[in-house]
Amino acid sequence: MTTVCNLGFPRIGLRRELKKAVEAYWRGDATAAQLHDQARTLRLRHWQLQHATGADVVPCNDFSLYDHVLDTAVLFDAVPQRYRSLLESDPLRGYFAMARGDQRDGLDLPALEMTKWFDTNYHYLVPELEARQSFRLRGDKPVAEFIEARDAGAKARPVLLGPVSFLLLSKCVDGSRPLELLPALLPVYAQLLVALRRAGAEWVQLDEPCLVLDLDEDAAQAFQHAYAVLTKAGGPKLLLATYFGPLGPRLPLAASLPVDGLHVDLVRAPEQLDAVLDALRVECVLSLGVVDGRNIWRTDLDRAVTLVRSAADRIGNDRLQVAPSCSLLHVPIDASLETGLAGELRGWLAFAREKIGELRVMADAVNGLASAGATLELARERLQARRGSRRVHRPEVAARVAGVSPDETRRATPYAQRSRLQQDRLQLPPFPTTTIGSFPQTPEIRKARAAFRAGRLDGAAYEAFLEAQTARCVEAQERLGIDVLVHGEFERNDMVEYFGEQLEGFAFTRNGWVQSYGSRCVKPPIIYGDVSRPAPMTVRWSTHAQSLTRRPMKGMLTGPVTMLQWSFVRDDQPRAETCRQIAIALRDEVEDLEAAGIGIIQVDEPALREGLPLLRQDWGEYLGWAVECFRITTASVGDCTQIHTHMCYSEFNDIIEAVAAMDADVISIETSRSRMELLDAFVRFRYPNAIGPGIYDIHSPRVPDRREMSELLRKAMSVIPADQLWVNPDCGLKTRGWTETMAALEAMVAAARALRSGQ
Ligand code: GLN
Ligand code: ZN
Repeated sequence: MTTVCNLGFPRIGLRRELKKAVEAYWRGDATAAQLHDQARTLRLRHWQLQHATGADVVPCNDFSLYDHVLDTAVLFDAVPQRYRSLLESDPLRGYFAMARGDQRDGLDLPALEMTKWFDTNYHYLVPELEARQSFRLRGDKPVAEFIEARDAGAKARPVLLGPVSFLLLSKCVDGSRPLELLPALLPVYAQLLVALRRAGAEWVQLDEPCLVLDLDEDAAQAFQHAYAVLTKAGGPKLLLATYFGPLGPRLPLAASLPVDGLHVDLVRAPEQLDAVLDALRVECVLSLGVVDGRNIWRTDLDRAVTLVRSAADRIGNDRLQVAPSCSLLHVPIDASLETGLAGELRGWLAFAREKIGELRVMADAVNGLASAGATLELARERLQARRGSRRVHRPEVAARVAGVSPDETRRATPYAQRSRLQQDRLQLPPFPTTTIGSFPQTPEIRKARAAFRAGRLDGAAYEAFLEAQTARCVEAQERLGIDVLVHGEFERNDMVEYFGEQLEGFAFTRNGWVQSYGSRCVKPPIIYGDVSRPAPMTVRWSTHAQSLTRRPMKGMLTGPVTMLQWSFVRDDQPRAETCRQIAIALRDEVEDLEAAGIGIIQVDEPALREGLPLLRQDWGEYLGWAVECFRITTASVGDCTQIHTHMCYSEFNDIIEAVAAMDADVISIETSRSRMELLDAFVRFRYPNAIGPGIYDIHSPRVPDRREMSELLRKAMSVIPADQLWVNPDCGLKTRGWTETMAALEAMVAAARALRSGQ
């Protein structure tokens, strides 16, 4: 019989219970015991829910109080010296110190570095290793959670991050190579496997997502060595899980590893099934990732069943499992509760719970159970409805995308020429000062927004409140002597949601939370249909703010790639197509801003870099359409209108050509934390347009003084021609308080003025 085996479940809880429990513990409002208790309740609830919706096998040890990579590091005692004594004396506090730093009781422990988990919006903590690292088991989390599941009557398969991916995702602080630590690490994995078997685990899932990346020969050898050792460890049977892409040229390697089961992602790479079946060893079980673990749409069950049947025909039902493509960590829990959505749309969605239900139907169908028929029929009807829906397909939108001519993706005049015309109009001093857009979102603002949303504050009063905030912000910038002003973005809760709510084709859930890192969750919008802009979105705020000052007021929009990247997107058309639709909708806004007299318009693309595909071979195609979309949004303005963009990171080496091709008149980037070193890419490329390297680290409440900022500016000036330089912070100021913001901006303006007067 084909079975339903899940690879991982969201930890955070339907109502973000884990977030609340963890934060209560951090605040000191809950004890460690209370936190552990709530965590246990969630685990039990989630196992129960998965079995009830049709999972034969549920994952355990997929739960984490903060992050599973951090858990793995702690489990194997890969703990940097600085945390050790705290971890010994207070394990939970030590654990969270590694996750987020600790500054209490005279301690000052910085956190581990955090980075994105493959191409998801989940962030993991990067383990810090060193050459003579030793490993040992610290605690028994995987075993304890297995026993907990077993005793609760769940049929659980422990999940571990595999040893090779664990090392490849870590970094060595002394410049040595993590993979060299494999021989030291494997005996401890082996020891853990034995303990799991003793506790009664029949299988263990070893996640090795690095198998879908470009691998060098050393990594390939590491896989061979690791699995030769682990399969002889005397532990449970091993399921090797790969996901987020095709195995591609790494298939022979993956299939040769002497494990008992292999999981492959057939959502991102359905075409690999035949090759996988050809390569699979006869004794090896195959787990088919046929339901999208990265998106929220119902599966085309007929197609998926056909795929599973074709596998069953070749290797038989008994060697098959059906599963989501990857852990369900990346989707929310329950779509049926989204009663705020139009019923039809809700019927198109599958969150974690519905996805397991889909897998059940598929397995039943493949196993020949007649009961699956009715559900398949319902799924077919829903899919038909979605395919034909007028809510989704709007011919006028498709026509606009199809009608974009190459001319519309290019500014009419080269930068050198148009920048002079812009200067004639704007009359800016050398080293113009500006900010990135948002000003402090105070508790007062959040309270007013909540009151407005709850209906306690009427629309007119809310608008008046926001106008007063804007006026105060404009006045503050004038007093500071900033050259290009912003309105402050007080009307926005979130830079994507604010626009999504005003565009056709976007929907918003109530509880569609997904963990981003630790206790931080995001509620990505759902792009379900063709995107258009029914009415101006920001013009009213920008023109109001402009009316308050004679200095130029910068219009402020979120770019098409960032809108796409931070949403759940359609799976019925290429991402590029959806992005072009958003780009055109935003172009309408750019044109309206320009027509309303706004002379500078910033289109933020902080997510451009994170959209890079996992394999380098796919980068060119992505960057091609991403840049094109930015240009669709921005290129139609006249020569005298100045286009800015903003990206809050500083690693530009890989993408500098694409960034230059965006052809923004001015780009602001994050550089203060790297002390300008990361301007390198711009220097080497001889980036031709204007650049504002951030000189104020807005991630910290610390106020840098003028000397510090002048120093950074001098550094920038030593590599970038003075007439190309702007002066600004690293990013928006929304998370800062007013007092520190004013002090820092005052110093920033002083630094720019000093430079102008040649000091
Ligand atoms: N304009 C936005 C702001 O200032 C940009 C935010 C971002 O880059 N993430 O808040
Ligand atoms: Zn930013």
